[in-house]
Amino acid sequence: MIRRFFSYYKPHKKLFTIDFSSAVIVAILELAFPLAVQWFVDDLLPSGNWSKIVSVSAGLLTLYLVSTFLQYIVNYWGHMLGINIETDMRQQLFQHVQRQSFRFFDNTKTGHIMSRVTNDLFDIGELAHHGPEDLFIAIMTFVGAFWIMLTINVKLALVTIIITPFLIWLISFCNIRMNKAWKKMYGEIADVNARVEDSVSGVRVVQSFTNEDYEISRFRTNNQRFRLAKLSAYKIMSFSSSGIYMLTRLMTLIVLVFGAWLSFTGQLTYGELVGFVLYVNVLLKPIDKISALLELYPKGMAGFKRFLELLDSEPEVEDAEDAIEVASLHGDITFNNVTFSYDEHKPVLEGINLQINKGETVAFVGPSGAGKTTICSLIPRFYDVNSGSITIDGIDVRELTKKSLRSQIGIVQQDVFLFTGTLKENIAYGMLGATDEQIEEAARRAHLEDFIASLPLGYETQIGERGLKLSGGQKQRIAIARMFLKNPPILILDEATSALDTETEQIIQHALTELAQDRTTLVIAHRLATIRNADRIVVVTEDGIAEEGRHDELIDLGGIFANLHRVQFQR
Ligand code: ADP
Ligand code: MG
Repeated sequence: MIRRFFSYYKPHKKLFTIDFSSAVIVAILELAFPLAVQWFVDDLLPSGNWSKIVSVSAGLLTLYLVSTFLQYIVNYWGHMLGINIETDMRQQLFQHVQRQSFRFFDNTKTGHIMSRVTNDLFDIGELAHHGPEDLFIAIMTFVGAFWIMLTINVKLALVTIIITPFLIWLISFCNIRMNKAWKKMYGEIADVNARVEDSVSGVRVVQSFTNEDYEISRFRTNNQRFRLAKLSAYKIMSFSSSGIYMLTRLMTLIVLVFGAWLSFTGQLTYGELVGFVLYVNVLLKPIDKISALLELYPKGMAGFKRFLELLDSEPEVEDAEDAIEVASLHGDITFNNVTFSYDEHKPVLEGINLQINKGETVAFVGPSGAGKTTICSLIPRFYDVNSGSITIDGIDVRELTKKSLRSQIGIVQQDVFLFTGTLKENIAYGMLGATDEQIEEAARRAHLEDFIASLPLGYETQIGERGLKLSGGQKQRIAIARMFLKNPPILILDEATSALDTETEQIIQHALTELAQDRTTLVIAHRLATIRNADRIVVVTEDGIAEEGRHDELIDLGGIFANLHRVQFQR
């Protein structure tokens, strides 16, 4: 894991080198300053040479200035390094989420994904900056300071260091517990996010059932669990920092008392004592740094672990190694003995055989839950079949690149998703980079132009959270306009008009009929009136394809379709 963490430094080698070497120079200067003070007290002061004092001070001033400048570099550039790494990781994770297959999104809460992309990465930047640098500097300073202390006075140095094993024990004791605590905390905040996401996107349901209090109490439970998880992390942290404070002050005290005794017995000069006290402070700095790392490391690593977990989940539907890129397909679709299930226990489709010819319009009818949507999701490979195969123009869909396959298929569903942005941007989603003329042409063919002309801002009208609210029929026409731009040879209309009133449905039906022209079209319809003109009707039930034929043929057959038809038109 550590190695993978370090691989993120690679693109920022230069930044790291500058930051790291500046930090090393600052640390060396920090190590040298107390020596200068000691020399100042013991040699320079007794000599009474004022001009020498002035020139030494000037030298010190220069070094302080250099150190100040380098500290600025370490601070700013070091954080830049951390932020850059954090940004890279976030970008990579977002890209990875975009590549995931439908099943991943079926099984993962949106709030959890959001939490991973945002919160989980918050501490990684800090860790990336401070982690290796501070650890190295801390060790270097500690060893350096201790070595200098040894040269000043071996006895005093050894007595001072007695505390260190206790410190190390304390730090490692707390580190393990903190690791667990932070990991739990991230899990809890992800749950809080998921809860917010759920009840905000479902707020209309919540309020219509007046279940606000229920939602509030569920949220309180999650929020409290988060509080407890975070508190327990801070409890350990407070324990460790208090412990470290106590042990380090003890160190200073030991130096003062034992140093005083050494000085009384003539084994230590005043300058050496002053130098020693200063070195104890230099020694304390790395300990402080390490105790800060003790907080940062488990926090950052807990997030990094969760980041890797998501990053390592391979998309289920992937391009084959030698996948073919097709520029265009005719649209002959064949299902060969297709079996499919969402989970192992419950097969949804079994032994489906179906031939759909280029340019044909085939309607799918049947009870809800029979598998009509599922049949259509297999063509663009939103899921892969368990056995059997689906071919387009004789090529197995698994042999095509996802990109070229999906660019040949247009899907209009009952729910149209509109992105925050302008009307124009939403239509252009069907073909990024479409010209204004193309967009207007598509809008015209989708029967949108009168509606758009009635808006004061026309195509530039904002849609979404703070913008225009559109009716179901208007959204549906935007979806159709997108399809005119995309212009795919294969079209899937999944209950595209089911949620509309009959009047709106007729207008949309018009646009859809035009859209379906010269394309292989699969229509899933609830209202049988809308599919009267289909070339063929396929009746899907839980047991598979039950009937297949033209409208009048199926009526004459007197089976399931005829029955459905009778029920719908008697009313
Ligand atoms: P239809 O479109 O005919 O109403 P679907 O194809 O949507 O039917 O569903 C067929 C069956 O598959 C149903 O039993 C449904 O519960 C199940 N199903 C649909 N989508 C999923 C999914 N994403 N994950 C698991 N099961 C699903
Ligand atoms: Mg369906």
